Amino acid sequence: MRYLILSDIHGNIEALDAVLAAVDPATCDATLVLGDLVGYGADPNAVIERVRSLSPRATIRGNHDKVAAGVEDADGFNTIARSAVSWTMLELSPENTSYLAALQQGPQVVDDMIEICHGTPYDEDAYVFDELDALRALESATRPVCLFGHTHIPVVFTRSRQGLEVETPDGEPLWPVTIAEDRRYLINPGSVGQPRDGDPRAAFAIADTTAGRVELRRIEYPLQTTQQKVIRAGLPDVLARRLAVGR
Ligand code: ZN
Repeated sequence: MRYLILSDIHGNIEALDAVLAAVDPATCDATLVLGDLVGYGADPNAVIERVRSLSPRATIRGNHDKVAAGVEDADGFNTIARSAVSWTMLELSPENTSYLAALQQGPQVVDDMIEICHGTPYDEDAYVFDELDALRALESATRPVCLFGHTHIPVVFTRSRQGLEVETPDGEPLWPVTIAEDRRYLINPGSVGQPRDGDPRAAFAIADTTAGRVELRRIEYPLQTTQQKVIRAGLPDVLARRLAVGR
């Protein structure tokens, strides 16, 4: 199976469309979506509709999806996230609100090799930033490859008998990871719509379970258009500015 992996799209339709133009979804057997379809960006309805048109094999909810759908309150959100989610709630069509509200909680097992979660397998809202977080997440994973999102930072944690290894793609447009049978992997593809690793390009991944390979990919998109839409929508300016620096 060859999966297209999308995480943290955050209402950025230009970034999502650039990914779909770079990787014809027809060349993949299925799509997996790791949550946060909406929040921050100006096109939540268009993003949901585009994701639905892909008929993903699995789509799990992120923290922004939950709050935007009214499933949870915005207590844990900072001022900017809160203001963006209020805007998003008003913008969403009733049908798309219902779609978000019905999204499954992670983790979700996809097949013998892959499971997906938004934050971690033990808590959908927990963040994996450091090695301790990664070890705890790997302990609770039930498949050799656990794909996660939430931090918006592409990273590969590999656990072997020797210990834990941490690797980041460092700007490579295509960064391959070969899956070895005696190791376990915790992989974040990065964020499609709001990267935070200092690289403004949209991030995504392709996972090929037959070849035993995961590719972390980056692609440019017309982010000035996205910035203009964010400003025109009346969303906080910082949400437009941060797209240009990937922070
Ligand atoms: Zn997110």
